[in-house]
Amino acid sequence: SNVHELTELDKKHFLHPLTPPKMQYEQGPPIIVSEGKGVYVKNESGDTYIDGMSMLWNVNLGHGQEELAEAAKEQMKKMAFSSSFNGYSNEPAIRLSEKIASLAPGDMNVVFFTSGGSEANDTAFKLARYYWKLKGQQDRGKVISLSRSYHGVAQGSTSATGIPEFNSIVGSQAPDYLHAEPHLLDCERGDRDNEHYHKSVRGIIEQEGAENIAAIILEPVMGAGGVFTPPEGYLQALRDLCDEKDILMITDEIICGFGRTGENFGVDNWNVTPDMLTFAKGSTSGYIPLGGVVMREKIRDEMLQSEDVLFHGFTYSGHPTSCAVALKNLEILERDNIKDNVKNMEQVFKTELQKLEDKHQHVTKTRAIGLLGAFELYKDRNKEEPFDPEVGAAFKVVDECFKRNLILRFIDWKGSNIVAIAPPLIVNKQEMEDIFKIIDEALTAFENAFDS
Ligand code: PLP
Repeated sequence: SNVHELTELDKKHFLHPLTPPKMQYEQGPPIIVSEGKGVYVKNESGDTYIDGMSMLWNVNLGHGQEELAEAAKEQMKKMAFSSSFNGYSNEPAIRLSEKIASLAPGDMNVVFFTSGGSEANDTAFKLARYYWKLKGQQDRGKVISLSRSYHGVAQGSTSATGIPEFNSIVGSQAPDYLHAEPHLLDCERGDRDNEHYHKSVRGIIEQEGAENIAAIILEPVMGAGGVFTPPEGYLQALRDLCDEKDILMITDEIICGFGRTGENFGVDNWNVTPDMLTFAKGSTSGYIPLGGVVMREKIRDEMLQSEDVLFHGFTYSGHPTSCAVALKNLEILERDNIKDNVKNMEQVFKTELQKLEDKHQHVTKTRAIGLLGAFELYKDRNKEEPFDPEVGAAFKVVDECFKRNLILRFIDWKGSNIVAIAPPLIVNKQEMEDIFKIIDEALTAFENAFDS
């Protein structure tokens, strides 16, 4: 059959990202996705799954949005490609940069396009350093990010990523990237007596000297590290810290951007304006690759002081098809009041998470902001006693969900057992309840195996 043939070819020729190559080589893909509609996808054999993760937190408008396909087709029929090097331009890129500027907070009115999120973060780091260089402060080269953060896999973004495994395969971490403990609110506000002060962003700035720091970067809500919402006041505390020390603040909005949290950007939940923000995934709902950096006018204006070429850019910076799809995607987000749906579904999300916690003794630390949420599994939740890593608790629960045709994601960094849930933003109440019915059954199956 087609499935058999594809499986064998996959094993032989397709090296998958973030997958154990040996397992893939021996077992082949757990699913070969062939089509999708709304929150559902089908595999090659015709089985239907609920996509509880919007694939990689990106298919925000859900699968099978024909208007996005039409937008791509219409644009491609007009022209293959237009470079934005040498100042050449194209209408979709122009209109999209204006649209994104109108959505971004404050005077974040200038957009630089990339092909994806990792490139966007590397671009932001370079632009931060360039900004300081133009201001005569070329020593400001270091970047502080948070432990447990995920920023991608290019040279800078992998170095900034605070999950050490990503730097383990080839020791790729560059020296100018420093990691702070996340969410130490009191320290960031200046509590030097706190035992963790030296690990805080503020503590690290003071050890390294603010004059050596170009920027800090953080995800407003940490995604791949485990879906952690910051404590109230945290983003503002970092904004204040950056202002005090004259350091650029970059927010990585690659998961949060364009409605995932119920607002345009993650920072909008706390009314904070960073100096740069990076986006990718949700900008096109994953239909086509696109990413970018949005910056405050002062960063671009600094470049206007010289005649120099901006020696940075990708072939696909401002690709007309990607930009046309993004424009249509943002149009649909507004037209169909998707952010309102996210806010309504957030309530269902929280209610359902609470029900899980009430019913299942290992479930705790449930959380959701917009349609970005998670729960954790502990052997004894009252004592916060973790499961033995051998148990693979989060892996098993996600696997039980998969057997019941629901796609979720497990996070087991440093012995944690986190299950992430991030359905497409067009999900309805019935579909949310279906997702949680399956999680409930999966947890029961896990408990029956573990507690007996
Ligand atoms: N930053 C965050 C917060 C992400 O979640 C991701 C991807 O998962 C990236 C950056 C990297 O983006 P990309 O995979 O498009 O390079």
